[in-house]
Amino acid sequence: MIRTRFAPSPTGSLHPGNLRTALFNALYASRAGGRFVLRIEDTDAARSREEHDQALMEDLRWLGLDWDEGPDVGGPAGPYRQSERASLHGEYLEQLYREGAAYPCFCSPETLAAQRTLAQVDGRPPRYPGTCAAIPTEEARRRLDAGEPAALRFRVPAGRELVFDDVVHGEQRVKTGDVGDFVIRRTDGSAAFFFANALDDALMKITHVLRGEDHLANTPRQLVLLEALGLPAPRYGHLPLVLNASGSPLSKRDGSASLAGLREAGMLPEAICNYFLRLGHATTKAELLDAAGRVAAFDPARLGRAPAHYDPEQLEHWQKLAVHALDTERARDWLGTTAVPAGRWPDFWRLVHDNVTGRAEVADWVDSLRTLPPAALLTDASPELLEAALALCGEPDYPAFVAALRERTGLGGRKLFRPLRAALTGRHDGPELARLWNYFTPEERRERFEHACRVTS
Ligand code: GLU
Repeated sequence: MIRTRFAPSPTGSLHPGNLRTALFNALYASRAGGRFVLRIEDTDAARSREEHDQALMEDLRWLGLDWDEGPDVGGPAGPYRQSERASLHGEYLEQLYREGAAYPCFCSPETLAAQRTLAQVDGRPPRYPGTCAAIPTEEARRRLDAGEPAALRFRVPAGRELVFDDVVHGEQRVKTGDVGDFVIRRTDGSAAFFFANALDDALMKITHVLRGEDHLANTPRQLVLLEALGLPAPRYGHLPLVLNASGSPLSKRDGSASLAGLREAGMLPEAICNYFLRLGHATTKAELLDAAGRVAAFDPARLGRAPAHYDPEQLEHWQKLAVHALDTERARDWLGTTAVPAGRWPDFWRLVHDNVTGRAEVADWVDSLRTLPPAALLTDASPELLEAALALCGEPDYPAFVAALRERTGLGGRKLFRPLRAALTGRHDGPELARLWNYFTPEERRERFEHACRVTS
């Protein structure tokens, strides 16, 4: 059974990078009839907050990315909050220590920092030099018993080549000699990220992990760890970063769009999912896809290796299609507090839905259809045309109205339709005139043409 997961550190609303990671993992599981797991990596206590957990889960639900197992819904591999798994992590850390696969490291942060700086100056990779690896077990125990602070460091096996097949990047080879011994338990006793993350994936029987490319360099370490623990490793796939238009990595720190911001701006979840489905993932489907369509369109073999560029204009395109596809009930929910004409819903929505992408445009249409047009828009209208339109405004049949108007005025084409539209709506764009004609009552049409005659006479 395919099991994927999304393992965010809850630090606020989703940003485009991890939104896409969540989407792809959910699609990967659905496509294979597998399960999608939500694990909250909240061990960074200072930054993780309960309200961030809630915001994150609400964001995912709003997007329609429901998880089969997670902190709130439970499941057989819980707990799903990493902070609640500390004793499990402790057991496995002890196992590695007992077996000699890890050793206490007494190096102070200052010593380590100095070594890193030195390596940098010499142009060497900032690898741990192995200072504490050689401390005899008895001596190490004595120092620990005496209360000397120590981290636990994993002893990376020497002289091996690690090979793994990345879902996105294909075969990867890393020499263990290039991977320095690394900390798996911090001096304060908590498990380090690499360790907790890899162990939890194994214990949760995760089979596939799609995550950001920034974790690619962690993967060899996680693979040797899991090997030492005798646990199965998932298949990893590293998604290229999402960049902004100027080519720098997009993150919530640089003030780029967060999901909260997109929601506030009135973006629809199906627009967002359709856009992100295509961000760094090639699909031949050009139409707006529903949830099932997105699952069918997702193909991990088509994940791109090049950085993806976040493009708000593309997102607008999907928003437009999503808005056009809204039924009247969902449109009402989407508009929320946007005023809609009293008693005119859903006629109003049917009339304007093809002409709007955002709530502000809906509000503009509410105004245009409620208030009388500004005089400035009517300056080029012929008074005879407006007089004739006024005389004919009771005609219920639009083609009959136009035919009669043509006959009376001798006008046609743009000369006829442009002022007509302006007199009715105060705009030069919008729905077909026939539909506008039917939307207005004969009294409203009269009022509008009277007004137009007045301001042009
Ligand atoms: N908590 C990590 C992050 O948000 C998870 C990385 C991973 O997906 O393995 O970056």
